[in-house]
Amino acid sequence: MIVMKFGGTSVKDVAAVRRLIGIVGGEQRPKVVVVSALSKVTDALIQAGRLAEQGDAAAAAAAVRALHRRHAEMAVLVESPQRKAALVAALDELFHELETIVHALAVVEEVSPRSADTIAAFGELASSRIVAAAFEDAGLRSCWLDARQVLITDAQHGAAQPDRQATDQRLLSLVRPLALEGQIPVLGGFIGATAAGLTTTLGRGGSDYSAALFGAGLGADEIQIWTDVDGMLTGDPRLVAAPKVVPQLSFDEASELAYFGAKVLHPSTILPAVRLGIPVRILNSERPEAEGTLITREAGAHGDGPAAIACKRGVTRIDIASSRMLMAYGFLRRVFEVFERFRTPVDVVTTSEVSVSVTVDDRRALDAIVAELSGFADVGREDGMAIVCAVGQRLRDDPCLAARFLGALEGLPLAMVSLGGSRMNITVVLRNDDVEPAMERLHRRFFEDQPRAEPALAAHAR
Ligand code: ADP
Ligand code: ASP
Ligand code: MG
Repeated sequence: MIVMKFGGTSVKDVAAVRRLIGIVGGEQRPKVVVVSALSKVTDALIQAGRLAEQGDAAAAAAAVRALHRRHAEMAVLVESPQRKAALVAALDELFHELETIVHALAVVEEVSPRSADTIAAFGELASSRIVAAAFEDAGLRSCWLDARQVLITDAQHGAAQPDRQATDQRLLSLVRPLALEGQIPVLGGFIGATAAGLTTTLGRGGSDYSAALFGAGLGADEIQIWTDVDGMLTGDPRLVAAPKVVPQLSFDEASELAYFGAKVLHPSTILPAVRLGIPVRILNSERPEAEGTLITREAGAHGDGPAAIACKRGVTRIDIASSRMLMAYGFLRRVFEVFERFRTPVDVVTTSEVSVSVTVDDRRALDAIVAELSGFADVGREDGMAIVCAVGQRLRDDPCLAARFLGALEGLPLAMVSLGGSRMNITVVLRNDDVEPAMERLHRRFFEDQPRAEPALAAHAR
């Protein structure tokens, strides 16, 4: 069995869904299909929520009606009048419900995280309905399933964590039998529900994570992530001019790249696959014939350099210094306990004798964190920073790669440097504004230049 996940651009319009019918129809193995919302729809839903929060009921309602129209236009995918009427009725019901919710929230001018999830979920609920109907109309035996009956999570709205046991149970009882019997279950990604039935979401880009959770729970042979690029690329295509496809990656490499900004995969996607060793393939729905990227336990071959580079903008650096507690044991524990209490992960960590510097991506609790840290240390904070890193097994074996990495960045002010940990990753922190030149230079150094010998070391350095 395989799980095929199609991202927002792969279902963005009628032509995209027709391509998808071809791709899924050409797959002989039993399969489960997971779809994202049509592209940009989640953004629009979040914006409708914001309008409601501002009390602008008219604008929020207009936003919902525009989404309703866009989805209703997709019904041309379905020819059978009966099936088309059923789809249109289902969409009407969904968007009327959404309009009612948004109106009520606009009246009270408040959108709680729970309500925000309820609103955001409509994108995947609608897209999955459309795709299931289009499949059926094209002669593929398929059935729509409400992902909220399958993916059970905790109640951390906006970033819900799956209850693996409950989810696996639902997968085995509700989804697996259908797929084995030759049907194609179609579910929305990104969304789930608490055991009590409240709608939740897994965080932006979370459909990949849904697909991986479903793949793991079903014991799938492969998880396919269909998107709009040819696979994991050597650098973010929006930042580097001539990125190349990375044909193979290890789970470790892929998860570090995803974590540090390669948006093509949600950072949690790899986790469920790792435990069971399920290969993850990234494929292009606009070019299904392209080989894509295969992610497995074994490392890929990357010549003499890293596998890829990645970057994450908009992080904050926090410097925490303590002269009084200098080198005292327990200091680091106290520092990290604060982050733990506020459920805020830190990404890069560097230490000196007198201070610790960390970067934080999730700024929701940052003011409170800084206030608390200030109780026992001197705290400095700098927003507008970015992480740039190179990832690859070769960094372990070739100690000179780190020097080449830093050499390429000569002249750009670096705020932090980190090498070690997995030893598969060299990371620097610099200003947002320097990300573009940094990515360009690194990409040229590692993926565009012909490999060449490093300049000989000066005699005194030997
Ligand atoms: P989907 O809607 O299919 O989930 P996403 O927009 O989430 O697609 O992810 C695909 C996008 O990720 C690509 O269009 C590309 O712009 C971006 N991206 C960033 N870094 C990389 C990378 N290293 N390799 C491939 N794509 C990347
Ligand atoms: N539709 C959701 C988002 O835009 C989830 C996803 O596309 O993976 O974040
Ligand atoms: Mg995505």
